[in-house]
Amino acid sequence: MTKYVFITGGVLSSVGKGIVTSSIGKMLQVRGLSVTAIKIDPYVNVDAGTMNPFMHGEVFVTEDGGETDLDLGHYERFLDVNLSKENNITTGQVYGAVISKERRGDYLGSCVQIIPHVTDEIKERIKAVARRSGADVVLIEIGGTVGDIEGLPFLEAARQMYIEEGEKNVLFVHVSLIPILRTTGEQKTKPTQHSVQELRRIGIQPGIIVARCETMLEPEAIRKIALFCNVPSKAVFTSPDARTIYEVPLLLDRQGMGDYICERLDLKPSKPDWSSWKAIVESFNEASHVLRIAMCGKYTKLTDSYVSIKSALEHAAAYVGARIELEWFETTVFEQDHSKVSGLRECCGIMILPGFGARGVEGKILAVQYARENDIPLLGICFGFQLAIVEFARNVVGLSGAHTTEVEPTTPHPVIDLLPEQRGLKELGGTMRLGASKILLKPDTLVSRLYGKDIVYERHRHRYEVNPKYWDVLEGAGLRFSGWDEEHLRVEFFELPGKRFYLGSQAHPEFKSRPGKPSPPYRGFIEACLRYLKDEKMK
Ligand code: GLN
Repeated sequence: MTKYVFITGGVLSSVGKGIVTSSIGKMLQVRGLSVTAIKIDPYVNVDAGTMNPFMHGEVFVTEDGGETDLDLGHYERFLDVNLSKENNITTGQVYGAVISKERRGDYLGSCVQIIPHVTDEIKERIKAVARRSGADVVLIEIGGTVGDIEGLPFLEAARQMYIEEGEKNVLFVHVSLIPILRTTGEQKTKPTQHSVQELRRIGIQPGIIVARCETMLEPEAIRKIALFCNVPSKAVFTSPDARTIYEVPLLLDRQGMGDYICERLDLKPSKPDWSSWKAIVESFNEASHVLRIAMCGKYTKLTDSYVSIKSALEHAAAYVGARIELEWFETTVFEQDHSKVSGLRECCGIMILPGFGARGVEGKILAVQYARENDIPLLGICFGFQLAIVEFARNVVGLSGAHTTEVEPTTPHPVIDLLPEQRGLKELGGTMRLGASKILLKPDTLVSRLYGKDIVYERHRHRYEVNPKYWDVLEGAGLRFSGWDEEHLRVEFFELPGKRFYLGSQAHPEFKSRPGKPSPPYRGFIEACLRYLKDEKMK
């Protein structure tokens, strides 16, 4: 029998449901159980791909090319599994499917309604993931906050599943905020009581309450939550501020949460083996050096826009015994005042971040130039890779006005141009080159050394690429194209020999980075930053 754990959120969004969901998964995994995780996003978009990162944070790309919610990234990193686009369910997908079934005549004769047709579709999608994964436990995180109108059909579907699958097979975990009043230092439980009341109003009684609180809950707060939310006090847990998010599963399990979930769901776990996870968590807490990394992009006001890149840098730093400190540069600032670029001097590595559109592009190009001329380690990802090519074309090859046609369609030197298959596309949703594909690495190159192999698979999300017409002049001027797609039709990696570290990747290796198993390009970058820091100190 598959077990289902639904995770809901109360009081406000960003309360840490994604980390709690991932942590529940980890607690079950270390007990020998197999786990998969689904994120439900109640917005009407079919996927996260068409949303501005300012609205919703990063778009996480799965192996199979889903443009999904960033929580899937947390699940993959904690659980060390690859998930599918089907693990992210949205209102757009559900209604889209119901409406096309109605048009086909599948519901002939009936009046199509939210209950049962929409809720059936939701349940069917959850069960399809359960079947395909074969997991012992399916975690389903319902995005947003209890009380949101758009979340109601999903909560209703969850309520029905409790009855249909049986109480031993379904568990509701409610994650809620417990604020502390600064004046009295008191932990306030009332907002949580209200959000649980809201859940019970629609027929869901949470089995577990996880309180997100800066400090561990006081006995009095636990007593109140238990009493007013109608749960035993042993079912109330605290998710306190942690040194690293990877510590959260340990902190929750120490309070007995893993055992409680197993007991409640009648699971037969083995004895938890935390040894390898603890070693990973330790590696995040020990740091001999602090590496200041420049993050050059345009969504820098919401750093969740780059959460996988941040994570990949953290994984790499922990791996080499260092810690990173990120310095965010909104690159339009460089455009307004060129002298601001020299602020990059304080950093021992420069990341040129992915993105779309014209804003901040010239500033990113200035940052690339600064890295190249001052030999500061550089890693360019996707748009960052493309703009580093533009910089090289303009300033080394001497192709004045070189550009990407994404920004300057009439440039005299379109060194970055649309992928041929993108020409004539009318729709924007889900039409980029998406997901994992094979990359062949040239022998004796930086990337082949970093990966330690010559075939790798990395995930993509782009419409533009290096224009084949410029391959020869770029390589002739010293740039090395060290990774190619299988047909040798598109450039996947470039590097600049002779530099401390100068690497660009058309794909997004950050999506496959895991704690304890950092992505090779990020590991190489961080190692170079560390060497550079030490060299500079020796001077
Ligand atoms: N805008 C660029 C393209 O579409 C890069 C995309 C990205 O950075 N993810 O090719």
